[in-house]
Amino acid sequence: MTARKPMVAANWKMNKTAFEARELTQALLPELKKIEAVDIVLCPPFTNLSLACEQIAETDLKLGAQNMHWQEKGAFTGEISASMLADFCDYVILGHSERRQMFGETNETVNKKAHTALAHDLKPIICVGESLEQNQAGETAQVVETQCRESLQAITPEQAQNIVIAYEPVWAIGTGLAATPEGANEVHRDVIRPVLRDLFGAEIAEGMRILYGGSVNAENAGELFAMSDIDGGLIGGASLKADAFVAVVKAAAETL
Ligand code: PEP
Repeated sequence: MTARKPMVAANWKMNKTAFEARELTQALLPELKKIEAVDIVLCPPFTNLSLACEQIAETDLKLGAQNMHWQEKGAFTGEISASMLADFCDYVILGHSERRQMFGETNETVNKKAHTALAHDLKPIICVGESLEQNQAGETAQVVETQCRESLQAITPEQAQNIVIAYEPVWAIGTGLAATPEGANEVHRDVIRPVLRDLFGAEIAEGMRILYGGSVNAENAGELFAMSDIDGGLIGGASLKADAFVAVVKAAAETL
């Protein structure tokens, strides 16, 4: 049993036109708005944030963005700033492995973004996770610890209370090969939580949520979320279909 409120975030990645996103949100709302036991965050593409904000207005659902720039404003064509997101969002995903792999995101840029996000009252969902190669070489703990420490540099204990960590082993994302509940929990409990304890103290670390992401679906969500240090999920593929995502959120509600 954990005192941390479960959280499930939907990462729609680069999917859904404005019309499709509106339809999906509409399909999700009747079920999701009844579930109070879970913090539910939808992270649609930037182009849908404004409309989604109107759609969820009378509910407890929250919005998140999938990325942002660390600069306040200026000559950064194509980028989105924290203050632009703060009009619509409570959360922002930072350091997703797809951004690390394809768009040059590093722990250093994640750290800069985290500071800017927090300054604008956006709660960062900071993603960490090892590659298949690193996993096979037995480097998981070291890689994840370094990602956490460097991404959280100069974050205060007070600020940390507004940060969520998402452990997303790269080999599990979009592959259908989820980590085992025990394997994921080991990283959450024995690697990430101790780093948080070291950086922010035991009390703050105990209250911080660590999500698991990587091929979570309606079938495996219950077992994963039942683990001691898995406080919910960051969901990609299964968040694109209303039934599957609602089932994942219900599984999180049942772990209370
Ligand atoms: C993700 O995009 O963060 C993710 C975990 O994707 P999937 O659930 O499809 O593995």
